[in-house]
Amino acid sequence: MYKILQLGLIIVTSVTYFPLGAQSSKCVTMEIHKKRMLEHPDLKDQMIKNELATQQWLAAHSALSRTEKQIIKIPVVFHIIWHDSIENVSDRQVYSQLDVLNADYRLMNKDSLPVQHPFHKFIGDAGIEFCLATIDPNGNPTSGITRTYTSVTSWLENSLKDIKSTAKGGHDNWLPTQYLNIYVVNMQGETLGFASFPDELVMAPEQDGVVIRYEAFGTIGTAGAKNFETANKGRTATHEVGHWLNLIHIWGDQICGDDKVADTAPAVDENKFCPVFPQRPNNKCGSDANGEMYMNYMDYVEDSCMAMFTAGQTARMNAAINMFRSSLLNSKACTITSLHEDNKSSLVISVFPNPNSGIFTCSINQTLSSNSALSLYNSLGIEMKKQQVIAYGDIKFNFAEMPSGIYYLMLKDKSKSIIQKVIVNK
Ligand SMILES: [Zn+2]
Repeated sequence: MYKILQLGLIIVTSVTYFPLGAQSSKCVTMEIHKKRMLEHPDLKDQMIKNELATQQWLAAHSALSRTEKQIIKIPVVFHIIWHDSIENVSDRQVYSQLDVLNADYRLMNKDSLPVQHPFHKFIGDAGIEFCLATIDPNGNPTSGITRTYTSVTSWLENSLKDIKSTAKGGHDNWLPTQYLNIYVVNMQGETLGFASFPDELVMAPEQDGVVIRYEAFGTIGTAGAKNFETANKGRTATHEVGHWLNLIHIWGDQICGDDKVADTAPAVDENKFCPVFPQRPNNKCGSDANGEMYMNYMDYVEDSCMAMFTAGQTARMNAAINMFRSSLLNSKACTITSLHEDNKSSLVISVFPNPNSGIFTCSINQTLSSNSALSLYNSLGIEMKKQQVIAYGDIKFNFAEMPSGIYYLMLKDKSKSIIQKVIVNK
């Protein structure tokens, strides 16, 4: 549920919706987020800015109907990090996970609520599809699956960061501006998974992605193994990708908390197992006789018990992609098989965040010639800045002195040039 608030109150709640305490073993996204806030004091400001931008985007796009909506394709790479061979899950198991994501994010899941269910009218189609990457960051063909043997027998709570580090026995993530990185690992304890929020992308791009334990991954093979039998429908990934696209737990991570979505029912707290409808009718947070929307993917119920995003949640995810992960919209990582085949058109330059304060990261998807340069033009076509680049990957820019406005970043390589719009909003 999202309460209508004045702008100032939105700011206050934006920085306080992660309570202390409230530990849960199923998803540690919030716990990791809180740690990251301590590591990066600027993250709070980033969250406030992003939340305001999200609310503005949602207000401006409230009339967007599903038929007008463009289907968004997100390239995915799965990183399998294994020690015991059972953890080296099969390609088929990976495909089964991809199938679940594609069903759940396109409202094609067979267990969707029946039309007579009181919550049916709130269901939303996110309009998001996931495709296996066909090129890696070096422009070489890939299956979209990497496999890494590690000497780490299982990842401890204080070493979860290392999963995304090749040097520490994991695997560096692929350009987060071009790929959704999904890791499959053996974690200690009972954590099913965790994800990074879009807010964290600027400060910790190397930690961007989703991590899932191998027993809670896909629908076949090791899915539901050991004592994780209720995590056997691939819904951990659905839930964690929801966080990656800026969704918060449905109870707002505190008693009667706010998940910043208007059409989810007010919830006292998380729900577990598989409640019987109606769950907590007329609760103290203001739910009606239909109670809490426990079957939402952003609650904590068993895989076979969850079945929906609301339209409000899907709008928030679309805002996140368009605002904070917009470079994914230009990613060709699953539409071509080699950069070398399509060299002229495949040069991709991405900017994030966009809009920004004049400080941004520019991502280039291939190695450039030694004479390449990046120029920033204002809307009158006047060159404001120029910088030589001999790079592949991410380059940080600080044009903080630039006033708010629309700029154009032009990358000129030997025979090619490409332009990316940059919005400076202070
Ligand atoms: Zn979660």
